[in-house]
Amino acid sequence: MINLILFGPPGSGKGTQASKLVEKYSLLHISTGDLFRYEMGNDTPLGKEAKSYIEKGELVPDSVTVGMLRNKVEANPDVAGYIFDGFPRTTPQAEALDELLSEKDQAVSSLIMLDVPDEELVKRLLERGKTSGRKDDADENIIRNRIEVYKSETTPVFDYYASKGKAVKVHGVGSIEEIFGRLCAEIDKL
Ligand code: ADP
Repeated sequence: MINLILFGPPGSGKGTQASKLVEKYSLLHISTGDLFRYEMGNDTPLGKEAKSYIEKGELVPDSVTVGMLRNKVEANPDVAGYIFDGFPRTTPQAEALDELLSEKDQAVSSLIMLDVPDEELVKRLLERGKTSGRKDDADENIIRNRIEVYKSETTPVFDYYASKGKAVKVHGVGSIEEIFGRLCAEIDKL
């Protein structure tokens, strides 16, 4: 199995690249952001709880996020591997993911980070906000808060996998195809 973490700040292109990668490598794409938006769209109790954090650009508490992720993985056991997008976003989430995979005699194969400068991220997210209908994309202050939360809470996840020799960075500026090529080059080394 190949279990990839597609990593990077908000707006770095994880979702775009994940949809191309799943086609090429036949993996299951699990995006915690998409799962939360699905729950919010259906106004479920989980969706209502998540919404109060997401609309401020804060992280949803680990216990809620890990439980939701575990359900999704356990509902799809017979796949060639997973692409985790937007998860793990904290060190406790990374530890929970390692635990979940080890229960299946699996492990994270690699974390690949899309490296994009802050000003490019803000530009892309404001542009996406014009059509995405996402409240967290519509306001520059919320966008900047998400980038700050990424730096303080999420970048330690890169170091966590780097210490296991499993983290790589890919330049995330260029055309979608160029960036896809850089990601495939890393995956093909696994
Ligand atoms: P982006 O990567 O563009 O910020 P996502 O769709 O991945 O967007 O996530 C949107 C929001 O959902 C995040 O800002 C956060 O509030 C919440 N979220 C998604 N994944 C997680 C996670 N692993 N842990 C906590 N909150 C999360």
